[in-house]
Amino acid sequence: MTTEAASTSSVAAVNPPVRRLADWPAADLRDLATEHGTPLYVVDLDRVRENAVRLRQAFLDAEISYAVKANAIGSVLETIADAGLGAECASAGEVVRALEAGFDRVRYTAVNPPARDLDRVVDLAADHEVAITIGASDTLDRLAERGWTGELFVRVNPGVGAGHHEKVRTGTDPKFGVPDERAAAVVSEAAERGFDVRGLHAHAGSGILNDDDLDSHRALVARMGELVSEVADAGVVLDTVNVGGGFGVPYRESESPLDLDSLAAATHEALDSVDGSDDRDPALGIEPGRYLVADAGVLVTRANTVKSTPETTIVGVDCGMTDLLRPALYDAHHAIRLLAPDAAERGTVSTTVVGPVCESADALARDRELPAPARDDLLAVGNAGAYGYEMASTYNSRPRPAVIALDDGESRVCVHRETIDDLTRLEVDR
Ligand SMILES: *Cc1c(COP(=O)(O)O)cnc(C)c1O
Repeated sequence: MTTEAASTSSVAAVNPPVRRLADWPAADLRDLATEHGTPLYVVDLDRVRENAVRLRQAFLDAEISYAVKANAIGSVLETIADAGLGAECASAGEVVRALEAGFDRVRYTAVNPPARDLDRVVDLAADHEVAITIGASDTLDRLAERGWTGELFVRVNPGVGAGHHEKVRTGTDPKFGVPDERAAAVVSEAAERGFDVRGLHAHAGSGILNDDDLDSHRALVARMGELVSEVADAGVVLDTVNVGGGFGVPYRESESPLDLDSLAAATHEALDSVDGSDDRDPALGIEPGRYLVADAGVLVTRANTVKSTPETTIVGVDCGMTDLLRPALYDAHHAIRLLAPDAAERGTVSTTVVGPVCESADALARDRELPAPARDDLLAVGNAGAYGYEMASTYNSRPRPAVIALDDGESRVCVHRETIDDLTRLEVDR
């Protein structure tokens, strides 16, 4: 083994590219569940820090903004702000929470922005460093009406490349960004109207994980580089290309983690491949959300009901689609682990893990081989740190779970368990 390989592998040992559900200490999770009850989200802030460090090491010179919508809990935001990252916000509420958490660089991505959100963000931008990314040219009018002509990015809808046109048309994509062929004109218009146009933005959406995803990412970045050149020809020099988020995490145990170094290399190559002089050499911006928090969180739940049926063993647990929506919303796969101390000695059975909500979509996993669960067993759901608590609802009058933060070896409640009284707090007395 060469010295270089040795040092690389020791870095990987200290800060591995992924934390699997099996890596979480079962006894600690059982203790937390006993102390705080279930369902219970656990978020490990030390792992969030590790993810931030790995991203920074791979993208040394990039402007990194955390996409707040993945997990907006104050303790998480403060951890990421302390790590020196900026914040990417999808609403005025996120801008407020990001500023409160101490982010000093905030970007607001205005997707069909409600007037109330624009009012609030423009107000906050008077005292804070806030850049606004627009996805439609009429947002320029709405910002100008409010007297704001600050740091602006234009979000481009790159059309996902040739051959996928129909899909783009029928899909939800046209909602996001200015059509590729209009982008240069919108940039010029914004510059003429006195906005401080800084760059282009494109967020492809889905999780980049394998080589195919990397190819489409390359195409997207190269297209952004071309647009920068086009715009420069028209007299507007842009200093940043923001390629969005979408850095994938392996939800299935069989998937390999994203190779951040390859992604960084592919991104820089694609950006540099565009001809043009050095003054057209824009800086890179990225906005990962999921990557920073997904494997830092688990959801711990207890089995209420175990029922054998001809098709499968139904395991009814005390969390459901109201606590973790992704399986019901996207058919998303989340690893599930039986936390029972004797789990390894039990035979496995095909199980379907369901929640307590009166909806057939309320299943966390179907036909999953698990060590035979029994009533009162604890189970953990993996990769629950991103789009987990954030998407929780109170449907079926189910209060939202508590959240425990692990921080430098200590645990503390960072969000209280919601109560049934909380659910009616905003109702007007009858
Ligand atoms: C959601 C979002 C992101 C983050 O996406 P992830 O898949 O969580 O990395 C980044 N940028 C924008 C504009 C987004 O809407």
